[in-house]
Amino acid sequence: MRKVDLIVIGAGPAGMSAARRAAQQGLDVLILDEQPAAGGQIYRNVGQANAKRSEILGKDFIHGQTLTKGLDHANIRHLKGAVVWQIEEGTRVSYTQNGIGAIVEGQRILLATGALERPMPVPGWTLPGVMTAGAAQILLKQSGIACQNAVLVGSGPLLYLIATQMVRAGVPPLAIVETQTKADLAKSMRHLVGALRGWSYLLKGLHMLWELRRAGIVRHVAATDVAIEGDQRAQAVVFITGKTAHRIECDTVLMHHGVVPNTQAARSIDIPHQWDAAQSCFVPDCDAAGRTAVSTVFIAGDGAGIGGAKAAALMGEIAALEIAHDLERLTKTDRDAATQDLHKLLATERSARPFIDAAYPPYAGAIAPADETIICRCEEVTAGDIRRFAGLGCLGPNQTKAFGRPGMGPCQGRYCGLSVSQILSATNDMSLDDTGYYRIRPPLKPVTLGELASMDVSASEG
Ligand SMILES: Cc1cc2nc3c(=O)[nH]c(=O)nc-3n(C[C@H](O)[C@H](O)[C@H](O)COP(=O)(O)OP(=O)(O)OC[C@H]3O[C@@H](n4cnc5c(N)ncnc54)[C@H](O)[C@@H]3O)c2cc1C
Repeated sequence: MRKVDLIVIGAGPAGMSAARRAAQQGLDVLILDEQPAAGGQIYRNVGQANAKRSEILGKDFIHGQTLTKGLDHANIRHLKGAVVWQIEEGTRVSYTQNGIGAIVEGQRILLATGALERPMPVPGWTLPGVMTAGAAQILLKQSGIACQNAVLVGSGPLLYLIATQMVRAGVPPLAIVETQTKADLAKSMRHLVGALRGWSYLLKGLHMLWELRRAGIVRHVAATDVAIEGDQRAQAVVFITGKTAHRIECDTVLMHHGVVPNTQAARSIDIPHQWDAAQSCFVPDCDAAGRTAVSTVFIAGDGAGIGGAKAAALMGEIAALEIAHDLERLTKTDRDAATQDLHKLLATERSARPFIDAAYPPYAGAIAPADETIICRCEEVTAGDIRRFAGLGCLGPNQTKAFGRPGMGPCQGRYCGLSVSQILSATNDMSLDDTGYYRIRPPLKPVTLGELASMDVSASEG
């Protein structure tokens, strides 16, 4: 079996910067990422970006090339298209690549698995023609394809970013239907002074709004009763603002109301998690260096709590230095000296977050969806089903599996877990921490019998 000092799972900003820093400290690093190229969500496919695509996606996107180039180091090996589906004993990682299964062992593991878009279950969200705004952005980054006749629905800065990228691509959205309210903005104001330390984010936000205005993009704010109409596919978005009912005909609906940590891998090895009320999501317990209750496993980046790409990269570096110290490649004094400035930069990077989180909370209608709304898309379980299970005495998401199989399909709960926890919590009048989440077990991602059968431990040498 191949053995390395550090296995990094995820080649986004956190994983890439961690790998580079660890390699510079002399560690033998293996990066596993299911994508065909390094970059993660924000810098997806950045290595292949031509001038036109770079212009559309913006300066921040191109910055990712510095990180991807950093992987060019003798101590780093990056396995592309490597899907991790099991972690054992805090040191052994099983993955498949090109249809072949393999196991690798690391003295330390860094989970840099990033974020997922928050599920946004509203009536009609399972119709063809509806997808997450992030998925539309993936099409743009990966293949240069922009969705036509699209309406963006939800809240958050990523919605504005994707709208501006569509404008620059020459395929502007028909409208943006936003769910945050003036009351949310008023609440966010108490974080404004702190947020001024992260002024560049505020400036970026204002610039995006100006760009959208200049392009004549219609914004509907404080939308409620959002639903997607259509027979065989999405044909219109309907919603209410104030006392006015709206209906916008469209071919595509792009939904987004924030991102949440992708905690599947951390949960699969029983790292404790807690509910973060400010970000409305579960976050894993880890210290400032990313160290978890499993002594050999660290977490960095959005997977440890949403902070954005620059914060993710800083967290990756901090974790790498801590791991280097753990493995006796760096003295405590040198580690402290090296991390001092990184912690300061990280605090600045995070300073605008409370303002952003308060100004763009998740859409209330998707947190408490109507009974007939499908929650678990894989197994077609509705919000009403979850409430009925609660009525039968179901206290936690894991129990719902026995009642109706939510979370047991191919996505293994990634896209319904949060909704199921929130619906149960509200129905049973229990806290989110007491309600908990699915118990995640391997395989984290679908793995075929053929891939299992092909598992040859010696094949993963070298
Ligand atoms: C769809 C989407 C689009 C986004 N677009 C932007 C944007 O344009 N601009 C912006 O500022 N922020 C964007 N964000 C937020 C952004 O992702 C983060 O702030 C930043 O990328 C976090 O970096 P990270 O390294 O923590 O994780 P990520 O960049 O998300 O990288 C995590 C990596 O882990 C890999 N991974 C996860 N699980 C496994 C597994 N089991 N096996 C193998 N590999 C695995 C993923 O393939 C991914 O490459 C986006 C988020 C999402 C969800």
